[in-house]
Amino acid sequence: MEQHILRPPPASITVICPMKNEAVNLPAFFARLVPVIESIASTYEILCVNDGSDDDTLATLLLEREKNPHVRIADLSRNFGKEAALTCGIELAQGEIVVPMDADLQHPPETIVEMVQRWREGYDVVLAKRKNRETEGWLRRKTAKWFYSMQNEISEVEIPADVGDFRLMDRKVIDALKRLPERRRFMKGLFAWVGFPHTTVTFVCEPRLAGNSKFSGWRLWNFALEGITSFSTVPLRVWTYIGSGISALAFISAIFLIIKTLIFGRDVPGYASLITSSLFLGGLQLAGLGILGEYIGRIYGEVKQRPIYVIRDFYDFPSRP
Ligand code: UDP
Ligand code: MG
Repeated sequence: MEQHILRPPPASITVICPMKNEAVNLPAFFARLVPVIESIASTYEILCVNDGSDDDTLATLLLEREKNPHVRIADLSRNFGKEAALTCGIELAQGEIVVPMDADLQHPPETIVEMVQRWREGYDVVLAKRKNRETEGWLRRKTAKWFYSMQNEISEVEIPADVGDFRLMDRKVIDALKRLPERRRFMKGLFAWVGFPHTTVTFVCEPRLAGNSKFSGWRLWNFALEGITSFSTVPLRVWTYIGSGISALAFISAIFLIIKTLIFGRDVPGYASLITSSLFLGGLQLAGLGILGEYIGRIYGEVKQRPIYVIRDFYDFPSRP
């Protein structure tokens, strides 16, 4: 982007950290994050969303807040999932620029300095793209790759590959995100949907400091389904084509059978072809129903209009005189 006049340094910055059972990581996380943030803006907040942790995360956060009044804590009433926790953070964030990041130090805080630099050049969104996926297993890398190519093939928005929730967003982007009312939240998709000029910086994704990843196997699969059904109706529409294709084939085969019967007379055998075609069609119908169900389930989820998260306690900035 041609931009000769730089934006002034940000007046304030918010870092949103969703956390579930990160107590052991927190001291190291704050020790590394705080100096970086203080070098960027003196007005800042570290907005921690405690997503139903059952370890000492809240106690550790409260200790941290004693030392540093810039720490604000939203303590959710139970585990609502990372997407809901992020949504909570986005709604509470006050900064001129906002950076969601994981609390396990997989996202190096130092990258934020470079992101802010790019923001000053005029970009409203700065994505952090991971340089390496080597820390992950082969299967997870491959499935991630398939997911991104499939997702981008069929969905209405382009979701950049290897970019997670670690990114910098301008206030304008945050205000746009706050207008998206859906309950089932696939944040990467919502981030992409709002648009705005963006650029990318790269970072080396470090191994998790301590604890285990909460996203594995089945949970990731559901996350991928969520992503696809949130941003595409192709899986619904594809049945029109499959159905028409099969009807066309059935029609051709009927004509063929009529002609054959007229010429060669009737023959009784045909069990094998009957059973295969009925099994095949039965299978297709079930798959089609399953996909319908997936979307109807989503509609059901939306119409209930339940809140995305519930805050048990909010530890705001200490009140100023
Ligand atoms: N997280 C959360 N709620 C959850 C699961 C995870 O807030 O239900 C947080 C977690 O504490 C971490 C971030 O989301 O700060 C990323 O989670 P994790 O490191 O387990 O995922 P991965 O990095 O393996 O994708
Ligand atoms: Mg992690």
